[in-house]
Amino acid sequence: MHIIVCIKQVPDSSEVQTDPKTGNLIRDSAKTKMNPYDLYPLEEALKLKESRGATVSVISMGPLQALSTLQEAYALGADRAFLLSDRAFAGADVLATSYTLALGIESLAPYDLILCGKQTTDGDTAQVGASIAQWLNLPSVCYVNRLEVMSDGFLVEADYDQFVQEVKLKAPALLTIDKEANTPRLPSYLLKKKNADKKIEILTLDDLLKIKTNRLKDEQNYFGSTGSATQVERMFQPVEEKANLVFKDQGKELAKVAFQALRDRNLL
Ligand SMILES: Cc1cc2nc3c(=O)[nH]c(=O)nc-3n(C[C@H](O)[C@H](O)[C@H](O)COP(=O)(O)OP(=O)(O)OC[C@H]3O[C@@H](n4cnc5c(N)ncnc54)[C@H](O)[C@@H]3O)c2cc1C
Repeated sequence: MHIIVCIKQVPDSSEVQTDPKTGNLIRDSAKTKMNPYDLYPLEEALKLKESRGATVSVISMGPLQALSTLQEAYALGADRAFLLSDRAFAGADVLATSYTLALGIESLAPYDLILCGKQTTDGDTAQVGASIAQWLNLPSVCYVNRLEVMSDGFLVEADYDQFVQEVKLKAPALLTIDKEANTPRLPSYLLKKKNADKKIEILTLDDLLKIKTNRLKDEQNYFGSTGSATQVERMFQPVEEKANLVFKDQGKELAKVAFQALRDRNLL
């Protein structure tokens, strides 16, 4: 079984600076780490590797600094690592990110299972997994907290807060894995040492354009900011208003004024 896990590098602090003109995150200004939600799909893949002998590939799209995050995945037990990196991929929204990842994944075919985190801690849209599935025309389920391998596919349980759904999917399929699925392991010192020089393959725009997809014309226009359907207009910190209200009335009159004050602030 070949499992591909999508892993994103995210800023390690909430003190990330943004470019006031473009609204883009200044990623160089922050320390980075593996998106914490991506530890869960990786753990799920590693468990399957141990129980069924799968090969686990990890893939990321981002600048070269994301290599350190893929190295972390090696220290956790991944077998192969790929970074999609090219200036043409910069400024990608969900549409362009998922397209780039879909082509990267396609270049690693054949595969049986693609696993993503349920969301990231920076973009936080929780849309990339399902969008990759759309591009690859694969069945998908999000927020999976239990995964079972069947003879021809997978049986999964997904928790949508209001209800729990059990779904059967044919392989190959894409799942986004929720935090309840497992407890991620810690990196192994031995694996870290053993894999310190292990190769991470870097794929550029040219590499992806060589893949015979037959899907889109003018394919080079589907990457990065050119291929993005959305653009950040403005990024700003909301102004916190903390004015204290003092009510001097009493009894019914106080209740009336307090009720109106809550209603005016849409707190009821
Ligand atoms: C309003 C807004 C403003 C934004 N501003 C900026 C900006 O200024 N600069 C900027 O760089 N980005 C910006 N983005 C983020 C950019 O759109 C996302 O980085 C990208 O689309 C991925 O979406 P996400 O982080 O929400 O992933 P989600 O959909 O939350 O991620 C789900 C899962 O998909 C996988 N995944 C997602 N991204 C990757 C990746 N790159 N590589 C591998 N796996 C991945 C992971 O498994 C992850 O757990 C912005 C997004 C929004 C909505």
